[in-house]
Amino acid sequence: MSTIVVWFRRDARLDDNPAWTAGAQADTVQPLFVIDPSLFDVVSPLRRALLVSGLAGLDSSLAALGGRLRVEFGDPRQVVRSVAAETGATEVFINREVTPFGKARDEQVGRRIRLCEFEGNTVHPIGSVTTASGGPYRVFSAFYRSWSDRLVEPYDQGRSGATIADNPGSPLPSVDESSISGGESAAQERLSRFRTRIDRYDIDRDVPGIDATSRLSIDLKYGWIGPRDVVAATAGDSKGRKAFVRQLAWRDFYANVLEAFPDTVNREMRPNLRDIAWREDSDGFAAWQSGQTGYPLVDAGMRQLRGEGWMHNRVRLVAASFLVKDLLIDWRRGERHFRRMLLDGDVAQNVGNWQWVAGTGTDASPYFRVFNPVTQSRRFDPDGTYIRRWVPELRDVPADLVHSPWTAGPLELAAHGVRLGENYPEPIVDHAMARERAIGAYRFVSGES
Ligand code: FAD
Repeated sequence: MSTIVVWFRRDARLDDNPAWTAGAQADTVQPLFVIDPSLFDVVSPLRRALLVSGLAGLDSSLAALGGRLRVEFGDPRQVVRSVAAETGATEVFINREVTPFGKARDEQVGRRIRLCEFEGNTVHPIGSVTTASGGPYRVFSAFYRSWSDRLVEPYDQGRSGATIADNPGSPLPSVDESSISGGESAAQERLSRFRTRIDRYDIDRDVPGIDATSRLSIDLKYGWIGPRDVVAATAGDSKGRKAFVRQLAWRDFYANVLEAFPDTVNREMRPNLRDIAWREDSDGFAAWQSGQTGYPLVDAGMRQLRGEGWMHNRVRLVAASFLVKDLLIDWRRGERHFRRMLLDGDVAQNVGNWQWVAGTGTDASPYFRVFNPVTQSRRFDPDGTYIRRWVPELRDVPADLVHSPWTAGPLELAAHGVRLGENYPEPIVDHAMARERAIGAYRFVSGES
């Protein structure tokens, strides 16, 4: 009689889950989730609620097959081994992680019990999309060509012949009600809803005032849906479908980058940009965090982040660029803030994107290309729908002024209910000056003229 423990982490699903599929070939399978209080107790209530809601969903899926999800609290280095010992399991099956933290933890767990790793968190196995010489890609477009040429490996939809252990372990912690429901069936519903608008994705995806993107990033982060499942449901020939699947390739790309270059988690990928003279500017940082920079699109994004724990991708780009280039504040500080606040906060994706914006990572666009927050705002939120939603102070300001209210006279603004410096801030920095300052700081260290 063989028993296998399947240790779920960021893959709380049965479909498209290679570790589960393999574990379920044993005579008995023990599904396990370990809540590590040193992590659980410090995250926001909303994150705790999401985790618990996803675990409840996984437990229901297992109950439908006659088993239960066993939940235990503690340090996984001890808990996993003791559950294995108690159940007589000789092996523990997991889907591999790429973060330095996750890898170090798994390495330590693996010293006490045999861990068997599977690839369940990306479309193609990590490390399988390589250059002709077998190395990692550093440029997305080349990675993408090779990624698209590969066939997605067939995967099982979670059928189980095994007896699933029915010991639920400890009860799930009680948490506040969450506005987002977690778990596999909620994720599948979000995917189905998105499929009704996917064919316009290429046209609308950059417009933050429209609900045009999938919002699957939280599902993918917690693993309520498998990336191969998402590709299977969305692949196709329309421009919208192609554009969408390409974004999933970015997700795979950044996971591969972190795997190949783990020190990029807090160090610039480009050696010649490692000594930029970042400014401390605690007032500027606080204004950015709280959505009080005086640049409406940046403020709208930062307030959406605070209010919803999510931000539209185009606005993430503009808000991150504002911190790094306009305020010349270290990208690591912004990355940490986003990671703490975003419900989809994921080390590989967050670091990869922040380094991209800072111009220090892969695919870096030349550092002298600096996003203009007003031009971006006019282009992607032309009538100010998104700004007005998150910056109610500017609700009555007409579209031609809402992107840069300081360009209007005080009387005109007052007629629309705005008094700059009183109920909405003056811009905290002059963009043209800040752009020159950033270019100078980058040029100084880059060795480029
Ligand atoms: P959709 O447009 O529907 O895209 C579908 C999926 O493709 C997303 O769910 C995501 O998994 C993937 N994807 C889309 N854009 C990107 C991208 N630029 N890089 C990598 N994968 C992408 N995404 C995270 O999942 N976690 C993060 O911590 C994160 N931090 C970011 C920080 C910055 C500064 C920036 C600019 C982007 C960041 N992103 C991050 C990428 C992107 O903004 C989000 O994945 C996207 O906005 C999620 O919304 P969606 O699911 O509706 O995306």
